[in-house]
Amino acid sequence: MRISYEIIELVPRHVFRTARTTSATSECVIVELSDGELFGSGEAAPSRYYGETAESVVYVLERMRPAIERMSNESELMAELLSRGGTSDPAARASLEIAAYDMMGKRYGVPLHRHFELDPAATPLTTMSIGLDEPPVMLEKAVDAKGFPLIKVKLDNETDVSIVARIKEATGARVTVDANCAWEPEVALEKIAALAEIGVEFVEQPVEATDIAGLRMVREHSRVPIFADESCRTSADIPVVADAVDGIVIKLMKCGGLLEAVRMARMAKERGLSTMIGCMLETSLALTAAAHISPLVDYADLDSGLLLERDPYVGMTIDRGRMLLPDAPGLGVVLRDETTVPRSHGG
Ligand SMILES: [Mg+2]
Repeated sequence: MRISYEIIELVPRHVFRTARTTSATSECVIVELSDGELFGSGEAAPSRYYGETAESVVYVLERMRPAIERMSNESELMAELLSRGGTSDPAARASLEIAAYDMMGKRYGVPLHRHFELDPAATPLTTMSIGLDEPPVMLEKAVDAKGFPLIKVKLDNETDVSIVARIKEATGARVTVDANCAWEPEVALEKIAALAEIGVEFVEQPVEATDIAGLRMVREHSRVPIFADESCRTSADIPVVADAVDGIVIKLMKCGGLLEAVRMARMAKERGLSTMIGCMLETSLALTAAAHISPLVDYADLDSGLLLERDPYVGMTIDRGRMLLPDAPGLGVVLRDETTVPRSHGG
């Protein structure tokens, strides 16, 4: 097989700010595998928080290039990725695995959700995320997102929780909150008590990622379900957080790919945890990969294509929060500038 890649710069429509990060632009790496007949596309959206950059992704791809070039098909690559395992370089590994699944789906004429035996009509609603900003700007963005039945509001230490009430009132949407590790446990208790009054559906990662005791304490005193995101990267973390939270957030770029994400969703369900599948700043290429397995989870937060100035891909589409999956083989994703016929079908 051949492998090629390209680093592309993603420009969000508004600077996207959370309690942890501020993104004016963000880099992702688009990966393409080819066996001369079929091709498969993948994407890495590296996050410094999880130890990756576009350069580190490229380093991993180059390190694997000789092995990939000796492989005759995508199944060998999947086997190789499985046998390596590990938790480092999750976005790099995810990009290769997504590309391999795309190629395999095209080989057998099967859309990705069907490979996992999932019902495309069973996708959960996706939230629309409102990044941190001055409260009037946050409110304006939320009103612009009208039609989304589920809105996720980013909060930090400084922003008053009353913005959540104003957003809920102005849009009539159900609302969730993500604190991205911002609060001390005692502060979290106060904030979450106020958020419970407002009628927030759940709160993501109120305290620091490593503070599992803090999560547990907050959850014991909270009327609102608590989800772990930064505290739960892979399936190995699920037993650690299982008795400290009500739900977990799964991300391909955090756990290393589709297979691990599916494992996390199933393991969480077995333990009675709710699940959400989320994203980094990604194009519709990686978002569509995640959307294909979303029938396995309760909530989705796969809106980053809508937050981009320009999303170079067309795949999963969102209609008032409802995700519509492509039914073309593989990911079913095409470049926005090309015809709507997938290139693998070209003569
Ligand atoms: Mg989060």
